[in-house]
Amino acid sequence: MKYWAGETPHKQVKIDHNHVMDSVINYYKKEDPKINYKYKKLFLDNGAFSALKNNNNFNVNLDKERVLDIQEIIKPNYTVPLDYPFTPKMPLFLMKKHWEHTKENINYWSESSNLDLVPALHAWNHNSLEENIKWLYQNDFDYISLGSVLTTKGEFNGFFGDRQPSKSFIDSIITSQQIAGKYGLKIHIFGFGSSPIMYHIGAFCGLKSTDSIGYKRKAVYGKIILPQTGERYCGNGKASFGNKKNGNGVNTFLSEEDRKKLEGCGCPICNKLPENAEERWEFLRLDWLRRTYHNKWVIEHEEKVAKEYEDDKVAYRDFLDDTIGKSGLKYLWEYSKKRIDQYSIDFFS
Ligand SMILES: [Zn+2]
Repeated sequence: MKYWAGETPHKQVKIDHNHVMDSVINYYKKEDPKINYKYKKLFLDNGAFSALKNNNNFNVNLDKERVLDIQEIIKPNYTVPLDYPFTPKMPLFLMKKHWEHTKENINYWSESSNLDLVPALHAWNHNSLEENIKWLYQNDFDYISLGSVLTTKGEFNGFFGDRQPSKSFIDSIITSQQIAGKYGLKIHIFGFGSSPIMYHIGAFCGLKSTDSIGYKRKAVYGKIILPQTGERYCGNGKASFGNKKNGNGVNTFLSEEDRKKLEGCGCPICNKLPENAEERWEFLRLDWLRRTYHNKWVIEHEEKVAKEYEDDKVAYRDFLDDTIGKSGLKYLWEYSKKRIDQYSIDFFS
């Protein structure tokens, strides 16, 4: 599963990227919209969801011509036609209306631009999920993004950003993936790469790509991501590995497993230091930018790990049993496996 590292423009800090996810929203009010960091490939989201979430800053809906203009100027490798996500408690008729407007825009974008489009899918129940995926397929798309998709259980899962891991959300992903698979459509899921665990669950489900700015936001909030695990908060005092002490100013306890993971980190920051967990931890703890580079490297490394198992699902499953199967999100991993195995029961009974 391709990982696109999320980015927001920063005047002082410019990170070089291979695959980066940025948003029209960051350039919407700029006179001269342009990307000021280096990258190899750019996926530019349309900003619809950010506008919805921060509608204090944007009182009006995004202007579709402006969105398209910015996309045309920046020329990303992939972009999303302006869509109209659902909000919690939105009445059904309005969801249907939003999807109609989304379809109009998809057609408009197809007719008036040469951009490589990854249209957003929205659905309010299982039937509309089938119908709307079929519509996208009939309109010649083979790569789509998962927008607001109400799960088979009817729970609302419409929000982008870092998705909260839940069984019902896993359920809507797997259902969408299974239906899209029947039509040969590949799926991008926004904000599913904030931790190695979420990334691997998405990869195991067979999604084509995801993104997340979690590596950076976690760094800013004092968190260090450990390979094949989640993040650890670095706190104010020194870390204590594997040997829990009371008091003594030690406020971060890390397991022996955590130690091994940090000592095995091959990122450019950790590589400057000996393979000593305490030293590495301390070095990362003191600077958010070091954590940003480290965190980003860890997630991008997970992508390489997943790729090694691309042709061997059984080995990948064993590997994940051994890693995330022993983590705090074990229940989510167990649920994902069960849900994938029971595909035929869910659909044909
Ligand atoms: Zn590192």
